[in-house]
Amino acid sequence: MAGKSVRVRRRSFSHWLIVGLGLGVFIAVYGSVIYFTYISSPDEDGGGPIHIHTSFRIVVEDREVPIPAGIGIAPELWRDRSLNRYSLAATQAPLHTHDDTGVIHIEANVNRTFTLGDFLRIWGVEFNATCIMDICADNHYRLTVLVDGVETNMPFDRVALRDGGSIILLFTRSQQ
Ligand SMILES: [Zn+2]
Repeated sequence: MAGKSVRVRRRSFSHWLIVGLGLGVFIAVYGSVIYFTYISSPDEDGGGPIHIHTSFRIVVEDREVPIPAGIGIAPELWRDRSLNRYSLAATQAPLHTHDDTGVIHIEANVNRTFTLGDFLRIWGVEFNATCIMDICADNHYRLTVLVDGVETNMPFDRVALRDGGSIILLFTRSQQ
């Protein structure tokens, strides 16, 4: 009698072990599906913090348009504050410049993709699909967007700021 009840208990234990493991796998698989489908933002991998750099230039014919130091740091050069939740320090936006070399510093508390548009909104300069500040692609100028030296048709505000990347907005006289 005693032996039989032990056998029953043992079978019952392994049964629940299998059920438990199955349930664990089920929760892990479906939890991941739900997390990656609905909860995590597609441009965030959950890692971080990050500190990377992208080079940015605006060139009108042979003239460099100054990219000032202090963008995202000096109050007058830190207009849009909607990305402040990603800042590593309260004294600076996650996208900022320390000097006038055109190096954009991306220092954020999460590993996510920021765009040139994010940087321009922080800076506070006017821009749209064809203009930046008062420089426009029009009858006089043609705008070429170069990402790592390669022309892209992507709207320039949607270009991602990649580590070691280079973005150039090149305005050249259009041939008439
Ligand atoms: Zn930096």
